[in-house]
Amino acid sequence: MHSFHYRENKLFCEDTDLARVAETYGTPLYVYSRRTITDHYRRLDSALKELDHEICYAVKANSNVSLLHLLAEVGAGFDIVSGGELYRVLTAGGSASKCTFAGVGKTREEISYALHNDVLSFNVESEEELFTIDSVAKTLGKTAPIALRVNPDVDAATHKYISTGKSQNKFGIGLDRVELLYEQAAALSHVKIVGVQTHIGSQITESGPFVEALEKLVPLVKRLRDRYQIQFFSIGGGIGIVYRGSLESGNEQWWSDSTTKGGMTIEEYVFAVVPLLKGIGVRVLLEPGRFLVGNAGVLLCQVLYVKQTTAKRFVIVDAGMNDLIRPALYEGYHEVVPVARNPKQPIVTADVVGPVCESGDFFALDREISDCQAGDLVAIMSAGAYGFSMASNYNSRPLPAEVLVDGTEAHLIRRRQNYADLVEFEVEG
Ligand SMILES: *Cc1c(COP(=O)(O)O)cnc(C)c1O
Repeated sequence: MHSFHYRENKLFCEDTDLARVAETYGTPLYVYSRRTITDHYRRLDSALKELDHEICYAVKANSNVSLLHLLAEVGAGFDIVSGGELYRVLTAGGSASKCTFAGVGKTREEISYALHNDVLSFNVESEEELFTIDSVAKTLGKTAPIALRVNPDVDAATHKYISTGKSQNKFGIGLDRVELLYEQAAALSHVKIVGVQTHIGSQITESGPFVEALEKLVPLVKRLRDRYQIQFFSIGGGIGIVYRGSLESGNEQWWSDSTTKGGMTIEEYVFAVVPLLKGIGVRVLLEPGRFLVGNAGVLLCQVLYVKQTTAKRFVIVDAGMNDLIRPALYEGYHEVVPVARNPKQPIVTADVVGPVCESGDFFALDREISDCQAGDLVAIMSAGAYGFSMASNYNSRPLPAEVLVDGTEAHLIRRRQNYADLVEFEVEG
């Protein structure tokens, strides 16, 4: 359930009028709903109550320190992919002992930083990385807790850039080699085997691929449990969310939508995976990112111009692909809705585009939207995950501000960049 809805044709986040928020903080502006994030966390947590489990939020989906603080408060651990993300978690008051460190390219500096802070586990993606972790740990006089990331070679049926569990992907270690590598790990002096990990991809909207991966991996987990007394099995993240019609399909069934191929509810996901994991004898870790924050955020922007050509109608807004890159990078779909709805406005077909000098700079193509004019505010929905965290300064555009709504209050959680910020780190050569 997300907390964006119309009240008398005005778009609200929780009990806050978004037009007012835009007036106070300007546009483009990311706005997040506190209630939505905590609600999603609690729903997933309680749906999994039959399992000994831990939810480790994937920080890369949205790494604002205030959101990390909120998630730490409700009890989340964290899945991190860089030293910078660990720094953010610690800054937010999160505990390194609840952090799993993923990624195919950890540097010695990052490994050392994570060892100093005693992370829960390094999720290891290659033989060379395993030996590097052992060597860094030895230098520091520490023992590194490790899990090997297994690539189960299953098709996650998602966009090719966010599929990670096929043998062609750079991630993880093949099932055919992983047990041998565990044996090698067991012989190393400065690592301790603590778990098994897998993550097959992102925005997965059916339970089939998860089931397929688990069916392949559960027997392995049981063997490793008996042999090395491993403590956890991390099944990764990847639970998909509804991007289409998230507003109409509303408020109750936001996660499932008949127009999405094979839309999956959280209950369906849990119903499919829990039976396979029950009685596994180790703690189950989940690493959801998008699921927790995706539908908890919108990107507010203002229409600058409407341009009618012989071919098309373009609605040019003040947010660009540098602020939200999902459409350009993954062909990601986002609803675009007016902040002030006017039922008398005609429905037109238009491209909603940004000001960046790239033809890939669009939010919607040939989309039926309520017609708008310069000065109108629009909301790009479902922008809470992989939105701000992937934003850049391309075209020397200052990064947008971020606001967290809590009931009737809107709190600034990151100020808008200014022009001086753009050149702050440049030095005379
Ligand atoms: C990106 C990532 C996740 C989170 O993926 P979502 O689709 O956002 O849930 C979890 N685990 C690992 C290892 C990842 O790389």
